[in-house]
Parts: sequence; structure tokens; C-alpha cells
Amino acid sequence: MRKRITRVAVMTSGGDSPGMNAAIRSVVRSCAYYKIDCVGIYRGYQGLIEADFISMNARSVHNIINKGGTILKSARSKDFMEKEGREKAYNNLIASDIHALVVIGGDGSFTGGMVFNKEFNFPVIGIPGTIDNDIFGTDYTIGYDTALNTVVDVIDKIRDTASSHNRLFFVEVMGRDSGFIALHAGIGAGAEEILIPEEDLGLDRLLDSLQKSRRSGKSSSIVVVAEGDKTGKNVFEIAQFIEKNLPEYEVRVSIMGHMQRGGSPSCFDRVLASRMGVKAVELLLDGKTNLMVGSVNNEMVAVDLELAVKEHHAINKEILRISDIMSV
Ligand code: ATP
Repeated sequence: MRKRITRVAVMTSGGDSPGMNAAIRSVVRSCAYYKIDCVGIYRGYQGLIEADFISMNARSVHNIINKGGTILKSARSKDFMEKEGREKAYNNLIASDIHALVVIGGDGSFTGGMVFNKEFNFPVIGIPGTIDNDIFGTDYTIGYDTALNTVVDVIDKIRDTASSHNRLFFVEVMGRDSGFIALHAGIGAGAEEILIPEEDLGLDRLLDSLQKSRRSGKSSSIVVVAEGDKTGKNVFEIAQFIEKNLPEYEVRVSIMGHMQRGGSPSCFDRVLASRMGVKAVELLLDGKTNLMVGSVNNEMVAVDLELAVKEHHAINKEILRISDIMSV
């Protein structure tokens, strides 16, 4: 029979996202509520291998719900990819009498958790924290809503200068494999066209659409491009192509970069993180493991970690259709 869980560890791993602190706070406070110990692990799996632990209580997480980044720091760990590293991690957990692990991160971090669970039969629960919203089994990941709002704010500002100078702006946003940020922020900010990794709209179609809007009297435009858009060209190459074929436009490129990861989390992300943290601890107390907490139709659900990692969170075709109609 599995030992009753009386001490849980929590870590943040992979790329940081706004709302990770709210998730840490929720895990720590849920442990306090259920009268079990909570240990924070610094720097993700690397800190686990190096036993970089800190004992946490309800007061250790005051004043962090509004803070971006992660107080536990995040890291990528090559050592955890090796069996030797994972063995050290396991020994550290056992030595500190820790019975379960909550991993806040993206699909890479969940893969690590899954491998670890299979090797050592150690209870692991994942909480999806990434701005990309690219995790299967949840409608939203922690940080996505904040990133969207950041992108929309910046595009609003770019629009002011674009319209003052009759310019065409190409704005690159994060999303190597996933177009959630580009598509939703693009619609929210009223972009002319949106290029994403999931659909190849083609450069000729883009040119055609921009030509049409020029003829219809538009003097400035915004095109949102996800990092990994399916044309296979980077934002500078796309801008050059359009500038060559549409010389009447003055073309500019803006790369949004890491500002998309930072900032104070939105209320939506804080509430999502708080709900997910509670669910993670309650799943562990119910003896469940190898699961990810998801939010589906505004309910907290448990999803098999393996499914969360292997399956793909598809773009909603309806949203694509809306974007198409809006760019008429
Ligand atoms: P993001 O979505 O922001 O990239 P992520 O969680 O996907 O976040 P990764 O860098 O892919 O970030 O993974 C984080 C860490 O998880 C890795 O540095 C590694 O330590 C661990 N990890 C990933 N894949 C494996 C694996 N196959 N086996 C063991 N550990 C892994």
C-alpha cells in the first residue's frame, strides 16, 4: 500500500510564465490547509538533483500572487535527461522524506516527470505553466492570458505609430510550434493578417490581401507573425518580400521577444493558477499520480500526463474563420 502523503515538493521548470508564483502560492497554501508539509525546489530538475530545497509555509508565499517570473527560479537540466541524474534526484527526495512532486511547467517538464514516475514509481502531478497555451488537455495554460494582454497592448501602441506614418508593420510574437498567441492577440488587436505555424496561408495570399486593402483606401496595416509560421520564412524575409512587391508601403518589423513572458499576471491567470494548485494537492491526497491538472469548460480536470505530452492542442477552426472574416 502507498504511504500516506505528508510532505509534498513543488518546483517550476522550463520557460517561466506569469502566474507561476500564484501556482506555487496555491500549492503551498493548499498543503498548509490540509496540514501537510511543503518543500520548494529551486531551479527545477537541476535543483532537485542538487538538493536545493527550502521548507515553505503559508507565510513564505505572501505578496507573490501579483509577481511575474517565479520565486523558485526555473531552469533546464541536462543532467535530469540522464538516468544517473534522475537517481540522484530520487535519493534526495527520499533523504528529505518527500512523498510527491508537483511540477509547474510545459510539456518538456511533464516528459521529465513522466519518465521519473515510471522509473521510481514516485507520485508526480503536473500544472501547465507556459505562455504558449500549447498543452493538450487544458483550454488554458497559466501565463497565456497575461502574454496575450501584453501583446495586444504593444500592438495597440504600434498601431498609433503605423497610422501616423502610413506604415505596414510586421510584428513577430512567440510561438515556434503554436499559433495561439498570434491568432488570438492578432484578432484582439485588429491585425490585418495573421501568420501561424498551423496553417500555410501562403505569401501570395498575403500579398493579395495587402494589395486589396491598399486599393480599398487603407494606408497602414499590422501583420502578426508567429515565430514558427508555416511559410517557413522569418519575419524579415516576409517583410522584404512584401516591400519588394508593394513598394507603396513603408514596411517596418518589430520583434516582441521576451517581454511577452514578463509582467504581473492577469486576474484570469491568478485565478487559474490558484484553482490548479488546489486541484494538484487534492489529487495527490486522493492517491492519484502521473496526471496533469487541466481546465476544461471552466472545470478543473485530471488528464493523463502521457496524453498531455503526446497529443496536440489544436487551434480552434472557428477562430481562424473569424480572423478571415475580420480581414475582409
Ligand atoms: P517550455 O514550454 O517553456 O519550453 P518545457 O517544460 O517544455 O517549457 P523543456 O526545456 O522542454 O521546457 O523541459 C524542461 C526540463 O525537463 C528539461 O531541461 C529536462 O531537465 C526535463 N526533461 C525534458 N524532457 C525530458 C526527458 N525526455 N527525460 C528527462 N527529463 C526531461
